[in-house]
Amino acid sequence: MDDIYLDKNENPFNVPEKVRKEFINYVKTANFNRYPEKWLPSLTKKLAGLTGFDIDNIIVTNGSDELLDMLIKHAAGDMVISSPTFEMYSFYARNYGYNVIDVPLRSDFSLDVDGILKQKDAKLVVICSPNNPSGNLMDRESIKKVLDSGVTTILDNAYYEFSGEDYTDLLAKYKNLIILRTLSKAFSLAGMRIGYGIADSGFISELKKLQAPFYMNILSARMAEIMIDNYDLIGEKIRYIINERERVYSEIKDIAYPSSANFLLIKKDIYDYMEEKGIHIRKLPLVKDRSRLTIGTKEENDRAIEAIHEYIEKIF
Ligand SMILES: *Cc1c(COP(=O)(O)O)cnc(C)c1O
Repeated sequence: MDDIYLDKNENPFNVPEKVRKEFINYVKTANFNRYPEKWLPSLTKKLAGLTGFDIDNIIVTNGSDELLDMLIKHAAGDMVISSPTFEMYSFYARNYGYNVIDVPLRSDFSLDVDGILKQKDAKLVVICSPNNPSGNLMDRESIKKVLDSGVTTILDNAYYEFSGEDYTDLLAKYKNLIILRTLSKAFSLAGMRIGYGIADSGFISELKKLQAPFYMNILSARMAEIMIDNYDLIGEKIRYIINERERVYSEIKDIAYPSSANFLLIKKDIYDYMEEKGIHIRKLPLVKDRSRLTIGTKEENDRAIEAIHEYIEKIF
């Protein structure tokens, strides 16, 4: 049997055939000798349409990783994170020599708001919701309390499409908030590196000053546009993945936490056990006795479920 990869929270589906065809047609006639349009007005407009915001509220980046990099560099000071969470936050802060203050999530993976608010010197707070790797959504009232303090806050919403929770209404009130999204997960475009942020227009224009005019290649930008034009095809896949997530969870709930994303946090470190079966999942070096399973296709999930059932039988 072939190995399967349920380790990086990727979409198990490649782009729809219709999208691939449109993209290939574009490639056939693309002007590779020319620079892209400055700051990608056409893609920015499509993302504005998709999210219901103005183009002034949107910044497009090479993966949301690049946006994190820019924001952390821009904040230029202590950053608060809540572990266990996405490792790239600390990665960038360390690159710039900024302090990372960890105010860990509580045992139920909720935010320790009081703990965060005590960090008076922090220049930046990062809240990941749904959180990677725990999979849960952060409570809206808790997020508001952090925002009320006025500190610049990144709400990493990379798994938005799987979560059913839209935080963008908070942007009307909070100019210190930036919501970060990506086309790497629900939109099946991890390989193309496209992310974006939504925030107050003043915040966005400040960020754009840090961005070179020709920062993204024309192929990624065009592929993103085509995908957005075909959002209906993506919606189908998102529903499939959510259904599968609920199915997998109900099969293995003895050792998994519920999730609002496209992965499940497993209450055991089953990384080595799964590797032996050719099922690659995510080992979590910073989280003891846990591992993370990405939701794949039905067939892939069946294999993971079968392996985990065997595991459960052995340990209980
Ligand atoms: C996958 C992921 C991202 C997306 O990164 P890209 O650079 O856009 O591919 C961002 N934040 C979290 C929490 C993620 O898990």
